[in-house]
Amino acid sequence: LIQITVPLNFLGTVYREIRQSMIDMREMYALADTAPEVVDRPGVPPLRVGEGRVRFRDVEFGYGPERPILRGVDFDVAGGGTLAVVGPSGAGKSTIARLLFRFYDVTGGAIEIDGQDLRGVQQTSIRAAIGVVPQDTVLFNDTIGYNIAYGAEKASRDDVERAARAARIHDFIMTLPEGYDTMVGERGLKLSGGEKQRVAIARTILKDPPILILDEATSALDTGTEREIQAELRRLGQGRTVLMIAHRLSTVVDADEIVVLEAGRVVERGRHERLLALGGRYAEMWARQEAEAETA
Ligand code: ATP
Repeated sequence: LIQITVPLNFLGTVYREIRQSMIDMREMYALADTAPEVVDRPGVPPLRVGEGRVRFRDVEFGYGPERPILRGVDFDVAGGGTLAVVGPSGAGKSTIARLLFRFYDVTGGAIEIDGQDLRGVQQTSIRAAIGVVPQDTVLFNDTIGYNIAYGAEKASRDDVERAARAARIHDFIMTLPEGYDTMVGERGLKLSGGEKQRVAIARTILKDPPILILDEATSALDTGTEREIQAELRRLGQGRTVLMIAHRLSTVVDADEIVVLEAGRVVERGRHERLLALGGRYAEMWARQEAEAETA
């Protein structure tokens, strides 16, 4: 009997971890447009997260052998630090996020969390440690309360409400005809881009992961909403290691390190002021955005 119950308990834990990371999996599917291909080596231990240090060591990667996408990407984010990845479309920014989530294994170099090579730990444990706030959150055809609690099955109504308040969506929910029981998604109430992002933020507050991937929306929200959501994301990032995929430079000004990616290579790195002073690619991108903001 013991021989049976022990593995079953163990499976229970694994199952919960899988469920918890399901939602992030879904978001990352959207990022990856494909099913995961990574299989754990038998008997590998779960990831043990300490401070949450994320390290890319000369990472090489391609979706197929004929076309390298990342070429020697190297960076190191201390636990609790924020790294922003910027660069032109197609440079490989989202690929970095997918690799950290271990959607694929690197073809050269290594990715480590707190010194553990991702290839040597269980994927479910990696995904349990990482929260994803995606560009565009996909909602389930269910209630808004369910959508916030999804994956955090131990969350009580109070926990859900607390998270919703912290994500500044509680007041909006209270204006809905059935409050937290209002159906949303394709067959229910359609939420705006900003409201969906707040659902994603509330969900991540409940998951409480030590590491965050923020994939900034390319489609701009109105400036007021934008600024509020930025502030909420900054709060969410407090005390967590953050990997931010940034499309607008205004959000990376405070990052501990900015990595400028071009055609899969890191061409510049450093803090905002240093990169501006450098007068290179980043300074150029910054000047272009400033000019665009002025015309707008
Ligand atoms: P954007 O700012 O437009 O989102 P990005 O910097 O995030 O771009 P990635 O999405 O990482 O860029 O894509 C990098 C390159 O990898 C692109 O050339 C893209 O076509 C290619 N790519 C992305 N996903 C796949 C995939 N699943 N299979 C094959 N190639 C892919």
